[in-house]
Amino acid sequence: MSDRLPRVLVVTLGGTIASVPDRAGHDAVPRLGPDELIASVPGAEHVATLRTESFRQFPSGDLSVADVVALAQLIHRRGPDLDGVVVTQGTDTLEETSYLLELLLDRDAPPVVLTGAMRNAGLAGADGPGNLLAALRVAASPEARGAGPLVVFADEIHLPRFVRKQHSSRVHGFGSVNAGPVGWVVEERVRIPLLPRRRGPVCSPDSLPAELPAVGVIRVGLGSGPILPEHVTGFAGLVVDAFGGGHVPSPIVASLAAVAERIPVVMASRTGAGEVYESTYAFPGSERDLLERGLISAVALDGIKARLQLILLLASGADRDEIRARYESAV
Ligand code: ASP
Repeated sequence: MSDRLPRVLVVTLGGTIASVPDRAGHDAVPRLGPDELIASVPGAEHVATLRTESFRQFPSGDLSVADVVALAQLIHRRGPDLDGVVVTQGTDTLEETSYLLELLLDRDAPPVVLTGAMRNAGLAGADGPGNLLAALRVAASPEARGAGPLVVFADEIHLPRFVRKQHSSRVHGFGSVNAGPVGWVVEERVRIPLLPRRRGPVCSPDSLPAELPAVGVIRVGLGSGPILPEHVTGFAGLVVDAFGGGHVPSPIVASLAAVAERIPVVMASRTGAGEVYESTYAFPGSERDLLERGLISAVALDGIKARLQLILLLASGADRDEIRARYESAV
């Protein structure tokens, strides 16, 4: 066994973990780069030989799908010289960027571990350094090889497909729905007892067009009315965040079916957990009714992640059968 330290690339994208306040905990903006973040982690140099890349300096709501495609290209390019990658970014969209990376990276890419912080560097109990240290340990660990992208937060290890930011302010702001966390970090040890089943990527980041298709999300609510043409103008696909197991108010059904004749419409559950039913109910606006009218089930993906997958599928020219098959195998 070689006694060289694993080589880990730390890529920073901004967010709270990189933010410093102007006055006692307030008015924070992203400012810190990778070297400053690493300097806040005692012992980081004993975990891995670190390389750094300051990739973006954004609040994470300003990151785009194209930014994540560019990040996947960077990881692709540098991957052969690395044992792992840590990405630090804002927590607001961490579940989306990590999921996009899962859809874009090959099975043999080095482990990519995403993390962030709920409390900025100027607040008492800032969680960035602890999260970064845990992320470095996971990225450097042989346990993580082949697991695909992972989210590490508060010493828990989550799968992108199930992780969600579940609280706006608590340090333990992340959790997994359906299955997970899949592992944890304690002292120097990394444990991933529930290694995920991995699928191949939807497409290579290098094969995507510069302009990605627009996909909208419509969330139904009590008494929601029909979908009007202006609600879907410019969209190449639509995700409907439906009630429970895949239900919408009956007055919406005809308009939704008309949209589904034109563009792919994927149906997710607005509960954000569990699976869309297939054949439990038969009332107008039930899951069975909507699937028979051409809607595609997101199965166990929530609406936000179903949207990201549809963007990549449409960008790579998938037809409806291929789109349906990909959602079926997404769990
Ligand atoms: N607004 C921040 C961001 O997502 C929040 C965070 O990082 O926790 O960039």
